[in-house]
Amino acid sequence: MLNEAPAAAVRAVASPAAGAWVVHKFGGSSLADAACFRRVAGIVAGLEEARVALVLSACRGVTDALINLVSAAERGNLDGCRTSLARLQARHEAIATELLGAAEARAYGEAFSADVADLERLLQAVSLLRAAGSDIRDRVAGFGELWSSRLFSVYLQACAPGQRVRWLDARDVVVVEWGPLGPGVQWPDSRERAARSVAADDAGVLVIPGFVATDTRGLQTTLGRNGSDFSASIFGALLGAREIVIWTDVSGVLSADPGQVPDARVIASLSYSEAMELAYFGAKVIHPQTMAPAVEQDIPIRIRSTFAPAEAGTTIVASPEAGELVKGITSIRDVALVNLEGAGMIGVPGTAHRLFGALHEAGISVILISQGSSEHSICCAVPSGQAALAERALRRAFSAELRDGQIQSVAVTGGCSIVAIVGDGMAQSHGIAGKLFQAFGQAGINVRAIAQGASQRNISAVIDDRDVSKALRAVHAAFYLSPHTLSIGLVGPGTIGSVLLDQLASQAGRLRREFNLDLRVRGIATSRRMLLAEQAIDLDRWREALERGGEPLDLDRFTAHVAAEHLPHRVMIDCTADAGVAARYAAWLRSGLHVATPNKKANSAALADFRRIQEAKRAAGTQYFYEATVGAGLPIILTVRDLRETGDRIRQIEGILSGTLAYLFNVFDGGAPFSEIVKDAKARGLTEPDPRDDLSGMDVARKLVILGREMGLPLELADVKVESLVPPQLRECGIDEFLERLPEHDAAMGALVEGARRDRQVLRYVARLTADGRATVALERLDAGHAFANIALTDNVVRFVTDRYCDNALVVQGPGAGPAVTAAGVFSDLLRLASGLGARI
Ligand code: ADP
Ligand code: ASP
Ligand code: MG
Repeated sequence: MLNEAPAAAVRAVASPAAGAWVVHKFGGSSLADAACFRRVAGIVAGLEEARVALVLSACRGVTDALINLVSAAERGNLDGCRTSLARLQARHEAIATELLGAAEARAYGEAFSADVADLERLLQAVSLLRAAGSDIRDRVAGFGELWSSRLFSVYLQACAPGQRVRWLDARDVVVVEWGPLGPGVQWPDSRERAARSVAADDAGVLVIPGFVATDTRGLQTTLGRNGSDFSASIFGALLGAREIVIWTDVSGVLSADPGQVPDARVIASLSYSEAMELAYFGAKVIHPQTMAPAVEQDIPIRIRSTFAPAEAGTTIVASPEAGELVKGITSIRDVALVNLEGAGMIGVPGTAHRLFGALHEAGISVILISQGSSEHSICCAVPSGQAALAERALRRAFSAELRDGQIQSVAVTGGCSIVAIVGDGMAQSHGIAGKLFQAFGQAGINVRAIAQGASQRNISAVIDDRDVSKALRAVHAAFYLSPHTLSIGLVGPGTIGSVLLDQLASQAGRLRREFNLDLRVRGIATSRRMLLAEQAIDLDRWREALERGGEPLDLDRFTAHVAAEHLPHRVMIDCTADAGVAARYAAWLRSGLHVATPNKKANSAALADFRRIQEAKRAAGTQYFYEATVGAGLPIILTVRDLRETGDRIRQIEGILSGTLAYLFNVFDGGAPFSEIVKDAKARGLTEPDPRDDLSGMDVARKLVILGREMGLPLELADVKVESLVPPQLRECGIDEFLERLPEHDAAMGALVEGARRDRQVLRYVARLTADGRATVALERLDAGHAFANIALTDNVVRFVTDRYCDNALVVQGPGAGPAVTAAGVFSDLLRLASGLGARI
């Protein structure tokens, strides 16, 4: 049977003089072509041990090709078989010709032809019967290992003529019996054969085909897919090896499948049980059965890369040195959830027994089981291919209960995957499950079922198959095995947007180093063009790239790109002032994209639209940040929120909310005419392109609406009483005419400032909002000693009068306009978002 002990008193074939054997297994990925054979021979030549057992897989892809041959023969396609066989022969002979002398290559080719003739006979028989038994399938599948190992053995001998190199037929040694749990090694028999085949004082290199073995009737069989790892471990036990090295194409067991998680990293050491758990849950790098014989004899297993032999790889031992609590994350694709549900099951013993009995009889392997303590339902995961069979088996087994209503349903949900985290250390710590499910939640992943064994070595969750990549990455990052990655799309690289990109470019390295935060701008869109990058746009050169490599804007495609399924966290940054872009927030938030913006349009649009955004974000669990819409980088919205959340009541907010107007009235003292000051401010980039956007007071009114809504008031823009500073006759004309005719207004403005000065007052454009919803924006005369009268340049100032801050108001003041501080406000929103998503900031 599978876990039958290779006997405690195993008589190891070992000689003290030559030291213990070391088994080195090279997988198919290390034996793809002649260059690979050379590389492997080089590694073998560099080994220091005197007794080396090499276990080889078939060349890459050969086992699959052989198994396909059997299927083709079953369909009667013998021509196809012949073509494939010829291709296999040509591939091997090409390697032989490249590596061996002509004579050796010819001899190898002749032996190969004999095998091909054998295979053709077998396949002919299959095509007549239109069915292949497992005997024939195993027989055919095992040829790949014979071909690769014979070739390598000859080549190795040729490389080192003085060395003792011997091909050892694994079929003469390893005897297995296939049972329900797979191939079970017949240890006494195998040990005896090993002792006969390998003398106690044998030394040098043994070249052994992996994967193949003999069954108890003496027929060739295999050890199951990826069984060469198992072969290595069996020979390790039989030879009493001191180490088993599994050479493959990655530098060890990685914390996740590198195909799914590019940031996966090599795990330095694992316990046998961790490795077993990872292997069982899909870490293809090592076959789960490999462990049993090695564990029994406490033989360390090392995983190393043929392509990077200098690296230490992963060591798998009984008690590894301390490492991360969660060592790795794996997934099993293509599973279906089977759910049996019914009130009639509660408290009735034997339901589970019948359920699993029925599945067992139908030959279905159950991958995961979960039952809530209410006993109202039991669910289990099975391979997708067996889902329909499972459903039929259960309907049959519970037909009476289904008819009588004790069981309400047998439901099968296809298209699922299992994601599991693995680590021995989880047993002694808390908060691991919390972090796992938080990561799922924040990445917008729905969890369908959960299982944690009492060993606490593994927590598994069943999720939708399409979420797998995203889930693996989110979980990997949540346990700090890889950086927290944010996929960022920036719309509007104008004044603020481009400064933000510069800030991101200069800080990205530090954020990655210090906080393991990977901010990836994967899309930049202007109003006409867009630039997309699969990984990340080089922020030092985005302008040229956008011009050269950009494409016409398609915001839908832009959105889809930024929202890439495989990246767990996605955020749109809108640095436009556009209402059309703002109108997309609700859809973005609903589809799982977070939004950060300095654009005031969304929050000051119709209340219904604003509410739609709030609902979308609540429904999808996404985040919406807009601190920079009021007072640029100043913490104004944050202050409103903090006050409210701590139970304070805001009675009044008043302040100067426009940096532009603050500047104009700071400078305007009656000396130079008002129109000159406006033109000068425009020239310095301190006003909107059309200064009327500032002078009209609408910008300030919008900010007031945003603050009002933050206070919980149902405020509309139309509710704000706004005093416009644009003369009525200049509101409709073009901008040039406006600038030309603005001096017509100078006399009136001059009189105002003069009047104020006489009374030791100043002019300030002030916004006011009270708790009952009264909102005004107007030019006011303030005493020279007033807080608002003494602000610098483009300062914003906001005064909060609340129940707590009533005698002495809370004041926030500082630069409230300008690209650098506004961009910094958006940047800090971005970091707040990352921190909320679990980054250690
Ligand atoms: P070999 O041919 O050497 O037996 P395999 O193809 O069977 O190699 O297994 C190695 C592959 O397993 C790697 O190339 C990698 O893509 C994949 N893999 C999946 N999960 C993991 C993991 N957790 N660690 C390392 N490799 C993994
Ligand atoms: N060649 C076999 C397979 O592909 C065994 C192995 O490579 O481990 O399944
Ligand atoms: Mg393998």
